[in-house]
Amino acid sequence: MSVKIPRGTQDILPGTVEKWQYVEQIAKEVCRNYQYKEIRTPIFEHTELFQRSVGDTTDIVQKEMYTFKDRGDRSLTLRPEGTAAVVRSFVENKMFGDPNQPTKLFYNGPMFRYERPQSGRYRQFVQFGIEAIGSEDPAIDAEVLALVMDIYEAAGLKQIKLVVNSLGDVESRKAHREALVQHFQPRIGEFCGDCQSRLEKNPLRILDCKKDRDHELMATAPSILDYLNDYSRTYFEKVQKYLTALNIDFVVDPTLVRGLDYYNHTAFEVMSEAEGFGAITTLCGGGRYNGLVSQLGGPDVPGIGFAFSIERLIAAIEAEGIDWPFESSLDCYLVSLGEEAKDYTVKLLYDLRRAGISAERDYQDRKMKAQFKAADRLHARFVAILGEDELQVNKINVKDMQTGEQQEVALDQLVDALKTMMEAK
Ligand code: AMP
Repeated sequence: MSVKIPRGTQDILPGTVEKWQYVEQIAKEVCRNYQYKEIRTPIFEHTELFQRSVGDTTDIVQKEMYTFKDRGDRSLTLRPEGTAAVVRSFVENKMFGDPNQPTKLFYNGPMFRYERPQSGRYRQFVQFGIEAIGSEDPAIDAEVLALVMDIYEAAGLKQIKLVVNSLGDVESRKAHREALVQHFQPRIGEFCGDCQSRLEKNPLRILDCKKDRDHELMATAPSILDYLNDYSRTYFEKVQKYLTALNIDFVVDPTLVRGLDYYNHTAFEVMSEAEGFGAITTLCGGGRYNGLVSQLGGPDVPGIGFAFSIERLIAAIEAEGIDWPFESSLDCYLVSLGEEAKDYTVKLLYDLRRAGISAERDYQDRKMKAQFKAADRLHARFVAILGEDELQVNKINVKDMQTGEQQEVALDQLVDALKTMMEAK
């Protein structure tokens, strides 16, 4: 019996991997413009890190983590998201001591959640995310939002919607929390078991429940926006003012809560509105997490970030029918005839490749016609044909596959000749 790939994971095969490289490249370039630097953290961390940051009452911590004991009996967890690890590293490496603040970082790597797999939802997925740690200025919130919208714009997306909300500061959240408890308590028996325990621990998370989404009390629940204190309201207004100044369209949705515990003030999501994108429309999620750094043992510095999965970005590009701006191509295919010529191509191929020309040859002992077919399949721009006769006189024939033109060049001039022809195109 053959062993199959684990549920919820996927192989990214050649032909598709180019799409990944392309969107990752776009995201990295935009990060460079905004001065966010790459950070790479381990794939696994101490389980406690996620319990303390993501939150004990979240679906991620309660149901979705890949947690295991190592041989030293330590509890480790495959990272389910990126922020906790970045903040851990920020604290551990004392990045707050760097005079350049805020610390602006991006990451790109696999995350793991034991979720029910469906279109757009995997158990291993790649998140691209950024964090700006060390500033509580609404302008940095606007910068973070502008950055993600720039990535989507560079990828060609048009049918997207930015949704923002404010979760307020500690004081605002406390007032809102009390209002939520009053609202739900009398009829909490009609809600799922998870929501019942959330009422005590974190009633805000009831608003994010997938099971009770349609309960009538959800629509009438008190809005956080009515409980923002002056500071939180002014902060949120500033963020909106900056977004407007940047001409970035957005809508305010007071029910936007986000699934992780550590958020406050600005919370946001980007949704795809493309037809056929699928049931899950969220492309990106993020927000401000002012208490997280101190919660993880660092100084009391604020932070904000977002993450999106490459899987959903690619799906959104395809749902909008945007053409991929690349095709796999090959500079030169070497066709050889006869044993001696075949031997000769070993070194010739090596020289071409080392000169920066992508080159390929036949290794299946194919006839000339089949070699030409292979060159076509690989979209070769040029085919260089070396027969015994040419070899005798140190010549080789180069055919331009677009124009059909052929010319003979000296064997030791092939690299230079091809370079000239490639530049001329
Ligand atoms: P979260 O960390 O849950 O706020 O998710 C942030 C973003 O990560 C989402 O908007 C998705 O783009 C992506 N994402 C989260 N979970 C998955 C998953 N299971 N499969 C694919 N992408 C995901």
